[in-house]
Amino acid sequence: MLIHVPIGRRAKRKGRERPMNKAERLKTNVAGDFYVNSACINCDTCRQLAPSVFAEVGRYSAVARQPKNREEKRRALYALLACPTGAIGSDDKSDISEAMAAFPLQLAEQVYYCGYTSRESFGASSYFLMHPDGNWLIDAPRYVPSFAKKLEEMGGVRYIFLTHEDDVADAKRYALHFGAERIIHKLEQEAQPDAEHIIESTEALEWKPGFRIIPVPGHTIGHIVLLYDNTFLFTGDHLSWDRDKGKLDGHKNHCWYSWRRQGESMARLIKEEFEWVLPGHGDRVHLPREQMKEALQMLVKEMKEENL
Ligand code: SF4
Repeated sequence: MLIHVPIGRRAKRKGRERPMNKAERLKTNVAGDFYVNSACINCDTCRQLAPSVFAEVGRYSAVARQPKNREEKRRALYALLACPTGAIGSDDKSDISEAMAAFPLQLAEQVYYCGYTSRESFGASSYFLMHPDGNWLIDAPRYVPSFAKKLEEMGGVRYIFLTHEDDVADAKRYALHFGAERIIHKLEQEAQPDAEHIIESTEALEWKPGFRIIPVPGHTIGHIVLLYDNTFLFTGDHLSWDRDKGKLDGHKNHCWYSWRRQGESMARLIKEEFEWVLPGHGDRVHLPREQMKEALQMLVKEMKEENL
């Protein structure tokens, strides 16, 4: 199953409740260099980055198979670096510098996955978008100086788009570092009271040519998503791909505000054009437009039936 980890504030609370004892290597790992320890919060990040190595076993992730080649080791090291709690270890970190240099990981010509997830956002994914008028962060990773330097080399950050209050992580530190302007909805502003741009609209708006901000209340009351170039939809915790079921998903069990409102918000997306779903939690997916539309229509129908 894709997500049976808690998402958002309930999850963060759970994370903080974990005892601060020295984390122990889990017995569920297979023998070898890589392992997961008991600091794991079951956020799914490692299973997304290195699915051939990590698996969910009980309430945690574990190394189900040690990397068998250079590519698998590289992906396991990505997971080690991206893990929000430092729960992944390896007795062989010989290629760690190379893995660090690879972040942010390129997903498409202008779009990158940041990695370096934060415990504060329960391991939520964040993204870096390169644009001639200034680069964007979509939600924020944990603040890591070497990563900030890498973003500097790629032109810095002008805007930080925050989908909702759960996934802001170290947005403020990145904003201060880059002099970037944060964008958040008024109904989520409590998470970033000094954000530079407050969205008040309940309707979709063109922020700049090619950048469409769409309010999608449901997971939280002021959740917004960002559609770039009618191709990339940055969805926060509103929408993701369920890799086990091979379908789009809205995470009903982790809807904090209103599943009915989330269903209505989902239906509004049908008229939008996009090929990519880039979520905070859950899997990313790239589909041909028509296939994406069909997958979304199917989800909207399911949600409508559930809300009857
Ligand atoms: S990335 Fe870390 S915290 Fe998340 S599931 Fe894997 S080991 Fe656990």
